[in-house]
Amino acid sequence: MESSNVLKTAAFAKHSPKRHPPKARVSLTSVAALAKAGLLSSERAEDARQVAERYAVAVTPPMAALMDRSDEKDPIARQFLPSPAELETTVEESTDPIGDDAHSPTEGLVHRYPDRVLIKLASVCPVYCRFCFRRETVGRKGEALLSASALEAALAYVAARPSIFEVIFSGGDPFILSARRVRQVVEAFGDVPHVEVLRWHTRVPAVAPERITTSLIRALKSSRKAVYVALHANHPRELTQEAVSACARLIDAGIPMLSQTVLLKGVNDDEETLAALMRAFVAARIKPYYLHHLDRASGTSHFALPIERGQELMRALRGRLSGLCLPSYVLDIPGGHGKSPIGPTYLERLSNKVGAENGWAIQDFKGRTHPIGAPARR
Ligand SMILES: *Cc1c(COP(=O)(O)O)cnc(C)c1O
Ligand code: SF4
Repeated sequence: MESSNVLKTAAFAKHSPKRHPPKARVSLTSVAALAKAGLLSSERAEDARQVAERYAVAVTPPMAALMDRSDEKDPIARQFLPSPAELETTVEESTDPIGDDAHSPTEGLVHRYPDRVLIKLASVCPVYCRFCFRRETVGRKGEALLSASALEAALAYVAARPSIFEVIFSGGDPFILSARRVRQVVEAFGDVPHVEVLRWHTRVPAVAPERITTSLIRALKSSRKAVYVALHANHPRELTQEAVSACARLIDAGIPMLSQTVLLKGVNDDEETLAALMRAFVAARIKPYYLHHLDRASGTSHFALPIERGQELMRALRGRLSGLCLPSYVLDIPGGHGKSPIGPTYLERLSNKVGAENGWAIQDFKGRTHPIGAPARR
C-alpha cells in the first residue's frame, strides 16, 4: 500500500501547474509565511495581521497548492486565508454559536442528545477555517490536547450512562493526535460495554492526507466497536487524488465514511459546485451526511446565506442527483438545542373552502405538485 501511494503522489506532482511558486513543505501558520508563499499581497497582509491577532491561521501544503493565486475569488483561498471582513461582527453572531457551554458536564465533553456525546479531543487543527463555529476556542492559547485527567473524567461520565450508544470525537481536529494517543482513546471508550459506535469528525484526510497512516488506521480499529469517519470538505477541488487515496485507505480498512459540508457564500453556494462535491464524495465511497447552514460565529457574516437559498439549492440537487448523493440540510439551533433539518419540505396539507382537511399536496423532483388523497382516519 505504501509504495503505491508514493507512486500516485509522484504522478500527481508531475501534473500540477508549473506557474505556482515553490510548493510549501510545511504548514503556513502566520501572515508572514502566507505572504512569503505568494498567497497574500502586501496590502492584504497588512489587514490580515489584525485578523491573525484575533483568530488562528494555518494552511497545510496541499491546501496552499490548491489555491489559484490568479483568482481573487478562489474558493479554497476564501476558506483559509484571513480576510478583513472577519473583523466585522454583527448582533446575531455569538462567541458560542451552538451553545456547547450549556451542555458540557465535564471538560471537553458535550452531552446534548440522550444517546450520544461529543468529545473535543484537541483544540487545534491543521488548517483554520475562516468560518469556524468554534473559532473562539480552537487554535487559541492553552492546552492543544485534552488533558489525561479531563479524558478520564469524560470516560467516567460515559461509562456511568448506559443510554450513551455513540461517542463522537471532534475538536478542533482529533486526527491531529498521534496514532498512539488515538489508540489509547479507542481502547478506553471501546471498552465501555454500552458504547457501540466511535465516530471521528475531521478535515485531515483532505487537508493533510499524509497523516492517514497504517498506524493511525490500526489505532482507529483497536477496539471491536464500529468506527465511522466523517470528512468535512466544502469544495470538490479539496478531494484531490491524495485525499481520495487517504479516504480509500480508511474505507478499505472497513471504516465507513460520511461527509459534512458547510454551505458558504462564495465557496459552494451554486448548484454546479454542490452537485460536483456530492458526486465526488459518493465516487470516493463517502456518503453525504450533512449540509450545514452556517453557524453564526463572530466575524463570519461574509459567508452567510439566507435559509431560502439553501433550500433552493437542496431542491436543485434533488432534481438532478441520486438519493445517495443527497445530504440533509441542517441548522444547529443557537443556544444548544441541537441540529434540526431545515427543509425544503415537499409535502403540504390541503384544506377545502371551509378549512376541512382534504389530503396532501406533494411535490416531485421536477417541482410539479400532485394531490395524494384525503387523510386516513386515525
Ligand atoms: C452535532 C452534534 C452531535 C452529532 O449529531 P448527529 O446528528 O448525530 O450527527 C452530537 N453531539 C453534539 C453536541 C453535537 O453538536
Ligand atoms: S477544521 Fe473544524 S474545528 Fe478546525 S478550524 Fe475548521 S471548522 Fe473549525
